[in-house]
Amino acid sequence: MIDIARLSFQYPGSDFVLSIAHLSLGIGEKVAVVGPSGSGKTTLLNLISGIIAPQAGELTVAQKNVAAMSDSQRRDFRINHIGMVFQQFELVEYLRARENILLPYLINSSLQLSRNVQQHAENLANRVGLEDKLNRYPNQLSQGEQQRVAICRALITGPKLLLADEPTGNLDPANKRKILEILFNECKANQQTLVVVTHDMAILDGFDRTIDFEQFRQSSHNPSGATK
Ligand code: ADP
Ligand code: MG
Repeated sequence: MIDIARLSFQYPGSDFVLSIAHLSLGIGEKVAVVGPSGSGKTTLLNLISGIIAPQAGELTVAQKNVAAMSDSQRRDFRINHIGMVFQQFELVEYLRARENILLPYLINSSLQLSRNVQQHAENLANRVGLEDKLNRYPNQLSQGEQQRVAICRALITGPKLLLADEPTGNLDPANKRKILEILFNECKANQQTLVVVTHDMAILDGFDRTIDFEQFRQSSHNPSGATK
């Protein structure tokens, strides 16, 4: 699902360099990405989803050469293949939970909002226990509920690849388990590949594999980390 080789990325004017010699993720794999704060975990998710573009190297996602795409091609690619749960949820404060879940259909003219899609949003909300909260605004929802709205929004388009950035970050243990169960169940049911960034070692059990970002740490002696 994801193939990375000799990838290099640097923010303009910053001395942080993300350098990955090799990394492959299979279809349907559930992978946890761990590593210290500031090591580039969010940057990697943004590269995979095409929000930012690498300066050098190969990046293939869902058999598409993301590294070679233009900005607008990467945007279309993201809309059609990727579901993203952002670290800070990024819910729209003035929209109700229902519209937040449907947001990809409200802002992308390439996606057609239909009665079926609306039904799908309700089904997703039912599965995560939000059925009676769909008319609430984000500030009327708990952190765990906002998190679940963000997950439903990431799932609504039926993406092949689900990327979640610290989705259990601010949750109590019971809600943590619940969120992970939802992510695992959805991905299993739909054969979706799941990449979860976390620094919570307590949740690593359920994943097929853990990728430790420590190995990508840039140093002047070893400019490229290597992994498989
Ligand atoms: P993590 O998610 O592992 O905490 P990030 O990927 O967010 O790390 O950040 C990696 C490094 O890149 C950090 O040093 C951070 O300060 C820097 N960084 C992140 N976003 C930007 C940006 N937009 N511009 C410049 N530097 C950034
Ligand atoms: Mg981060």
